[in-house]
Amino acid sequence: MSVLHAIGRRGAALFAFAQRLLRRGGAALVGARRSRAALLESEKRLQAVFDQAAVGVALVDMRTGCFERVNQKYCDILGYTRDELQGRSVRDISEASDYQLNLDLRDELQRGRRASFQMEKRQLRKDGSMVWVDLTVAPVLQEGGVPRYNVGVIQDITERRRMQDTLRRSEEQLRSILDHLPVGILLSGPDGQAIFHNRHFVDITGYTWRDLVGAGAWWTRAFPDPDVRAQALSRWHAACSQAHAGQIARAEYDVCRADGGICSVALSGIALGHNEILIFEDLSRYKAAEEQINYLAYYDPLTGLANWRLLRDRLDTALSRSVLRKQCGAVLMLDLDRFKLLNEVRGHDCGDQLLRQVAQRLRGQVRTEDVLARHGGDAFVLVLDADRPTPTQAAAHAGELGERVLAALRAPFLLDGESYRTTASIGAAVFQGRAESPDELLRQVDVALYQAKASGRDVLCFYDARAQALVSERAALESDLRVALEQGQLEPYYQAQVCDGRIIGAEILVRWHHPRQGLVPPAAFIPLAEETGLIQPLGEAMLRAACQQLAAWATDPRLAGLTLSVNISPLQFYQDDFVARVLDALADTGADPSLLELELTEGLLLQDVEDTIAKMVRLKARGLRFSLDDFGTGYSSLAYLKRLPLDQLKIDQSFVRDVLRDPNDAAIVRTLVALGSTFGLRVIAEGVETEAQKAFLLAQGCRHWQGYLFSRPVPLGRFTALVRANPASGQGV
Ligand code: C2E
Ligand code: CA
Ligand code: CA
Repeated sequence: MSVLHAIGRRGAALFAFAQRLLRRGGAALVGARRSRAALLESEKRLQAVFDQAAVGVALVDMRTGCFERVNQKYCDILGYTRDELQGRSVRDISEASDYQLNLDLRDELQRGRRASFQMEKRQLRKDGSMVWVDLTVAPVLQEGGVPRYNVGVIQDITERRRMQDTLRRSEEQLRSILDHLPVGILLSGPDGQAIFHNRHFVDITGYTWRDLVGAGAWWTRAFPDPDVRAQALSRWHAACSQAHAGQIARAEYDVCRADGGICSVALSGIALGHNEILIFEDLSRYKAAEEQINYLAYYDPLTGLANWRLLRDRLDTALSRSVLRKQCGAVLMLDLDRFKLLNEVRGHDCGDQLLRQVAQRLRGQVRTEDVLARHGGDAFVLVLDADRPTPTQAAAHAGELGERVLAALRAPFLLDGESYRTTASIGAAVFQGRAESPDELLRQVDVALYQAKASGRDVLCFYDARAQALVSERAALESDLRVALEQGQLEPYYQAQVCDGRIIGAEILVRWHHPRQGLVPPAAFIPLAEETGLIQPLGEAMLRAACQQLAAWATDPRLAGLTLSVNISPLQFYQDDFVARVLDALADTGADPSLLELELTEGLLLQDVEDTIAKMVRLKARGLRFSLDDFGTGYSSLAYLKRLPLDQLKIDQSFVRDVLRDPNDAAIVRTLVALGSTFGLRVIAEGVETEAQKAFLLAQGCRHWQGYLFSRPVPLGRFTALVRANPASGQGV
């Protein structure tokens, strides 16, 4: 940069003038040829011009760095008098951080590497304040000698700097605002070359400044395929021409990102003279959200299977296809047995794990053209595409598949690292054309499913009209049972438990006096009560009845020692407050806990062994006894059995029934009795109907039994009459 350029025309003239003045001054100092008077006159004139100059001018001694002469303006800028300034060094009035550069440049000047230099620096005023100056320095050329002085010209640029700072700050602010906008912004020139972009533009497209600058029109990178590009540009021009004056053109594009990927953007543009401001909105996030919403609307997030909405949709399609092709298909509905119990006992997380694994196994069984859906809770639905010519063939197909599914689910599952077995029930219905609506079809499989559950689980049942009646019956039964609980239609019956011919106690078995149907056996409503949760109030009622009875008997010496066994259903046992409920019943009635026995089933005990043991231990501490009901029928795990604080094993009646005819059953009974004595537990047999059965049991060492041979379950009055008629009864063993 030339000195002239640096200080402007007026400054340059002054600069030359100052040089002249100083040369003369310098000459005056070393002595002159002209007459002294003339010189003084000339000197004065020059001094006057020098002092009136609008810029600060100073003569600085190169060796000392001290001011030799300064003009008035220089003094004004720095707030010193001429005398104060002359003799002071440049360093004294320089702001420390700028001084080094000043020094370096002066060095270069001295070495003749440059003819002059110019810089902006801060100088310290006498009052301590700071002033920004534009400084231009050049050596004063001596005729025939090495320069001794530099001439420095300063201009006060404090105001300009302040404005520049303000400008820079607001520019930074603007930049930061643009960078923080949630849209990408690109300022492009007339030929599409990038002039500016914000940070979000890079986030969206991946193109940085380096990718775009000097790379021609930005759209050549965004649309590398010439055909796609031509199309995009023509759409853009169309959008621009459609946007009325003052409006913004907008269109959506798939843009090629720097990494080669594709991003969907909405592009809006505003013309700015010959340039264009383009706003890029990232649509991929919306698209992802859209997909997510669609996914949630049509899929089950837990298993990834279709949900009921998609199922109905697909079922509709399948029915239409069935009409078109004149072919038959089928729908299967599957429900996991005892899922509610698993959820309740092992927690929902375990339940979720099971559902996911079941979904996985089901997937392994179906074809891609079939639809697999989760129908809420633990129900799954399978729609087999209509591709069989007759309903019989469709039914056969459904039957085969159903059996395969049941078999696949029998293998143990792994929940939280523990093995878990389950079974399922399946209902199925065949469809042919549009005879049924999707709703009607789903209702039919639902009915078939109820039938499957009623016929003992782990089976598949097809829809038939009789099953429909069964379902209605069940629904009626459920509402009747609620009423029965409220109105006290449930009565405890007592079945004697015998040892060596004496009645030692009884098992309480519920009976339902139905207002229209008469006496309903437990087998007809206990499973329903378990499914609906009604078993909890029902079980509680029986437990309280038992406690009341024990308390009542306590006052009668003939009955005082009798024990009572109460059946406890899993759902009841796994209530968090089960222990408290039992203790409350005892406390409220004043019954002797040691005469109360709780009958638990094996399946229940093994659901959550730690929790089971904890509850049993707390109750045993109060004196209660525990009996293991239906022993031998479940998946026995002797290792666990050993840990459970049981008092008694109850051999299931199914073994007792055939004990004399079936050598297997005889062997089982023998083993169970031996097992009981190994564990130090009392063994009782149930379902003893004949003397021969009794004799066999006795021969094995089983003295306790219960069965029709002695008495059926009977109402309270008849039971106490039995005890009174039996001389040695009620004394306990
Ligand atoms: P369970 O606990 O195994 O009860 C024994 C069942 O065998 C009773 O049937 C009883 O009447 C029957 N039984 C007794 N001796 C003989 C015999 O010599 N031959 C034959 N064939 N059967 C005999 P019940 O009373 O119909 O009860 C059936 C099931 O209902 C019970 O089986 C039990 O699981 C459940 N249950 C009954 N009452 C209650 C209750 O109050 N609470 C709970 N949770 N379940 C109950
Ligand atoms: Ca029982
Ligand atoms: Ca039993």
